[in-house]
Amino acid sequence: MIYDEILNKIREYNTIIIHGHIRPDGDCLGSQLGLRQSLRLTFPEKEIYAVGEMANYVKFLGEVDVIADEKYESALAICVDCGNSERLSDQRFKTAKEVIKIDHHIPVDNYGDIEWVCEEKPACAQMIFEFIEACSLKMDLVAATAIYTGIVTDTGRFRFDSVEPATFRVAAKLLELGVNVAKIDNELSIESLDVLKFKGYILSNFKLTDTGFAYVTVTKEVVEEYHISYEDAANQVNLISNIPNYPVWALIIEYPTEIRVRLRSRGPDIDKLANLYAGGGHAKASGCKLLNWSQLTNFINDADNVVKEYKESI
Ligand code: AMP
Repeated sequence: MIYDEILNKIREYNTIIIHGHIRPDGDCLGSQLGLRQSLRLTFPEKEIYAVGEMANYVKFLGEVDVIADEKYESALAICVDCGNSERLSDQRFKTAKEVIKIDHHIPVDNYGDIEWVCEEKPACAQMIFEFIEACSLKMDLVAATAIYTGIVTDTGRFRFDSVEPATFRVAAKLLELGVNVAKIDNELSIESLDVLKFKGYILSNFKLTDTGFAYVTVTKEVVEEYHISYEDAANQVNLISNIPNYPVWALIIEYPTEIRVRLRSRGPDIDKLANLYAGGGHAKASGCKLLNWSQLTNFINDADNVVKEYKESI
């Protein structure tokens, strides 16, 4: 059983380092910090760390650790919420003695010595809870809050079709542990005046193709003009999610070093389209990259083809 396999490895190591992906979201950090807390409570004699980047909007969950390279020499790395090794934040996981992958993305590569991947799970944090519960590991309000935040963020507040009965059962158990649903929702919903104005930019500048693809491009200059973070810019992907006859949409943002596409669908699967542009993810929520703005026309054509095939098939 995979739970026993993972638990045996955790028991075997004195140092356990939990990794997530670059530009982490609520599910990634919720999984990392929730698992860290549960393992710290259960195994107080072990050194348990969570490393990588932090995201401002879930800072209320706690901080990540900064650790020395030597810690990896005899460590077990547990990588959560990441389908491909290239996207893992802090590539030192490669220097750990063994690696466990716990994830719910369509796998891009197999980087773990032990892998537990459930593509149908709506949130990696739900898997973390199921593991903690099955292994009778300890939980407290800190762990429960992190895990609940992971679940609400990756399910779009329990709205996506990946939500299953087990998601609500897990949420119910987290509430029994004292999770404050309204407080978490408030933390996640706060937005600055700058972000509010930037939303106006998105709503005034999105483009529609004749076939049914909606997209908006955001250059570095626009991000600067609105005084917002890239994280805040990227979070607006679903502002154009509900336009009738536009089942696929994208927010395309020029970062200082790359152009990132956040791709979403409520119709056709779009992960294969993302694969064509150095990306991947889920069937209905993927991400990828453009090498430069001149690739945009090709990307729009490819997205249009996906929409066209989908519309012809229904
Ligand atoms: P995002 O648009 O960043 O929220 O990504 C949507 C989903 O696709 C997430 O589950 C990401 O983990 C995944 N994803 C985003 N970018 C990439 C990428 N370059 N390669 C593989 N998966 C990605």
